[in-house]
Amino acid sequence: MRIGALEAGGTKMVVAIGNEQGEILDRLSIPTQTTETTMSQLTEYFKDNSIDALGIGCFGPIDLIRESATYGYITSTPKLPWRNYNIVGTFSEALQVPIGFDTDVNASAIGEATWGSAKDVKNSIYITIGTGVGVGVIIDGKPHHGMLHPEAGHILLAKHPKDTFKGTCPYHENCMEGLAAGPAIEARYGKKAYELAEQVEVWELEGYYIAQALVNYILTLSPQRIILGGGVMHQEQLMPIIHREVLRLLNGYIITPQLQDIENYIVLPKLNDNQGIMGCIKLALNEMR
Ligand code: ADP
Ligand code: ZN
Repeated sequence: MRIGALEAGGTKMVVAIGNEQGEILDRLSIPTQTTETTMSQLTEYFKDNSIDALGIGCFGPIDLIRESATYGYITSTPKLPWRNYNIVGTFSEALQVPIGFDTDVNASAIGEATWGSAKDVKNSIYITIGTGVGVGVIIDGKPHHGMLHPEAGHILLAKHPKDTFKGTCPYHENCMEGLAAGPAIEARYGKKAYELAEQVEVWELEGYYIAQALVNYILTLSPQRIILGGGVMHQEQLMPIIHREVLRLLNGYIITPQLQDIENYIVLPKLNDNQGIMGCIKLALNEMR
C-alpha cells in the first residue's frame, strides 16, 4: 500500500510516501505559497505516486467537526490566501482517496503514540515548543478534539517575579506561547535561542514556564507520558530543569510510579523529527478503516 502524508505548515509543506509500518519511502519539501501554486504541486506529487489514502497534519485553526459545513477547512488563519480554504475537499476531489485530517501537533502526538515514545500507553500528550507552542492530546488512543481542538499552548501562566518581558502573544499577556516559545526567548534576550546556550538563567526561566504548563496538563489530563518536542527542546540542559521544577511545583500532591520515575515520564520524541509525517501516515491508515 502507498500512503500519502502531508505536514502542512505556514512556511513549508512536507510531503511523503509511506507504508503501513510508518516507513518513509520518499519525501519532498516545498515552500508554502498561494493555494493555487502550492496545491497543484502537492496534487501532482500524490498523483504521480498513485497513493491509496492521504493523511494531513495541518496548521490551524482548522475545522475537525465531521458534521460541520466547513469540515476539512483551514479557518481563521492569519495566512490570508489559506483563510477559509477547503483543503480536504480540494484534495478529495482531485485524488479520490480517503483523507485523514488533524492538527499538525496532533499528527506528531499520533506518530509518537503509534511508533515512538508513547507506544506503550493509551493516554499521552505531545507538546511542541518551537515557533509557537502546541499540545496534542491522546485519550484512549485517539486524538482529542472536543469543541475545536486543544489550544493549550495559550494556557495562562504565573509570571516569574523577576521577568519583566511583556510576552509576544497578541491575545494574552502571560500565556505559555507568548512567554516561552522560541520567538519569546529571542525577543526577551535579543539573541537567537541557540546563541544563549551557555546562559543558565535563560534555561532556568524557560524550564520554570514549561514546568508550570506541564503541571497544569498533568492535573487536568492525567497523561501516562509527556513528550516534549520542537526546536527549543534541542537545548539539552532544559530537561533536567523541567523534571526538577515539575516535582517542585507538584510538591508531593500526586504520587504515582510515573512521577517517581520522571526521567521516563517526561521525555523527548523518539522518531527523530519524523513524528509529524509518520503521524500523517497513521491518520491516513485510520481513515481507511
Ligand atoms: P516550527 O515550530 O516552526 O515547526 P521548530 O520547532 O524548529 O519549528 O521551532 C523553531 C524555533 O525554535 C526557532 O524560532 C528558535 O527560536 C527555536 N530553536 C530552534 N533551534 C534551537 C536550538 N538549537 N536551541 C534553542 N532554540 C532553538
Ligand atoms: Zn496566547
